[in-house]
Amino acid sequence: MSQVKVEFNQYYTYDRLTEFLRAYAAHYPEFCTLSSIGKSYEGRDVWAVTLTNQATGPANSKPAMYIDGNIHAGEVTASMACLYLIDYLLNNYTSNRHVKKLLDDRTFYIIPRANPDGAELYLTTPTMLRSSVRPYPDWRLQEDPPGLYPEDVDGDGKILQMRIRDDARGAWKIDPVDDRLMVARTPRDLEGPFYHVVTEGVLRDENGELQKEGFWPFDPAPTKYGLDLNRNFPAGYNPLTPGAGPFPLSEPETRNLVEFINSHKNIAGVLLYHTTGGVLYRPHSTMPDKDFPGNDAAMYEVVGKLGTEVTGYPVVCCYGDVWSGVLDDWCYEQLGLFAFTPELWDLIGRAAPEFKGKGWRLSPQDRQQLELALLRWCDRELAGQGFIRWHKVEHPQLGEVEIGGWEMKELRQNPPPRFLEAECHKINQFAISYALALPEVAIDEVSVRSVASGVYDVQAVVSNHSFLPTNISQMAIKQKAVRPDAVHLELTEGMTLVNCQAKQEIGYLDGYGSSLHRWGSNPGRTSRRVRWTVHIDEAISEAEVTLRLISQRGGTVTRVVKLA
Ligand SMILES: [Zn+2]
Repeated sequence: MSQVKVEFNQYYTYDRLTEFLRAYAAHYPEFCTLSSIGKSYEGRDVWAVTLTNQATGPANSKPAMYIDGNIHAGEVTASMACLYLIDYLLNNYTSNRHVKKLLDDRTFYIIPRANPDGAELYLTTPTMLRSSVRPYPDWRLQEDPPGLYPEDVDGDGKILQMRIRDDARGAWKIDPVDDRLMVARTPRDLEGPFYHVVTEGVLRDENGELQKEGFWPFDPAPTKYGLDLNRNFPAGYNPLTPGAGPFPLSEPETRNLVEFINSHKNIAGVLLYHTTGGVLYRPHSTMPDKDFPGNDAAMYEVVGKLGTEVTGYPVVCCYGDVWSGVLDDWCYEQLGLFAFTPELWDLIGRAAPEFKGKGWRLSPQDRQQLELALLRWCDRELAGQGFIRWHKVEHPQLGEVEIGGWEMKELRQNPPPRFLEAECHKINQFAISYALALPEVAIDEVSVRSVASGVYDVQAVVSNHSFLPTNISQMAIKQKAVRPDAVHLELTEGMTLVNCQAKQEIGYLDGYGSSLHRWGSNPGRTSRRVRWTVHIDEAISEAEVTLRLISQRGGTVTRVVKLA
């Protein structure tokens, strides 16, 4: 089979994505396996890719990085970033020493498209939707309320905006600086033209039929796609949060993810890819930093800085936002994992950095400046594409209207195709730094000393050679999500232990990064010495014991030692 060739200058439908994942598994069987973690609402398999070098040990014996993407339907950059990481790791094993180290000593669990149904609707129709395709609230299964339904009226494959002239009542006017933009009318604006600005669409009655005629005012119909899967997780879940669903994990997509994460106990780091904004969100949305146990809040920042260093994206704690039921909160509060939610694609950071992060808090004047800056960026970088100019259309119900507006799918919500690959590359440098930082245990020294006839003293020094501690966080200990590390001595026929246990629990091993916020006074406890006394029957001439160091999140290593 020839090399798997994937272009990162377009967004792939489910079938194409599946084809690529199958090809990777077929082409790199020693590094890559493909499995389904369960079905989506519409019955699609949700794919998980496991990456590790099988020759150096099975996936579950190594510390693992968990990465998923595209739980929000339209955030298709996220699944492309996951696909890029798979491609990057598999194609650079021999040429990049970081990649070699990661495939040899770590496992990656990557779920590129957590919500395949929503992404498919987004990619193959003009529809915009937040998340799942299951109608919600539940009455939407029976009922279609009257109102304005988003639809591609002029048949250009996009749902944009309609401006409808109404000089008496219109709230919008054409921007005198750039006639593509609509700006808010002020009390001093007495003479039109003024407009209503609404989503491109058609008016339907309570039976779902097209209304014969349309009159102002009319309301947008509430969306049928009212779920938000990333409000459905059992952490700070609140049924009143928009889109939260009827109860935690009510949806197959969220249940699949939680079951997968919970059953892979070696997961030690978590990244959840979304768009947009160019920030690295971190928990907790309902628990302030001061309530994090121990130094967890400081360590969260330390890990996040690994991301900021390589992406330029700041770490932003989402406490105080109205979110609840989000997956990164669940990963931290239940499992003590430092989960991040990177928001990929930083259009505002590129076009108008002075407005970055201000979001909905912008005044109408600032919003106008921001939109003008975005237009200038499109004119410069995309030769004017990105904004579809207003054009007259005969609307079936409203008569003459004009349709135009921002390209949403491949500009505002996701990068235009030629910016996609760079975005995928950048965020995955964080994945690589983070994965390198995961704990990694080792048996450093073993000594055997004969203390009496047939009696041996066996000692070993075991350590964590990496940045993060084997427990990852204090929360993990508090929640009993991580077992203490232990060293097991396995004997063979004719051997007995003298006054000691085969299994010696050693607690948790610090990483070298643990000392970073202690100002040098305490280097941390990155090593332990363990000790056994072994008695051997006289009949045995060649005696061997096996030391096995088992760390849930730091890996499993073994060493065979000769006694006599
Ligand atoms: Zn999102």
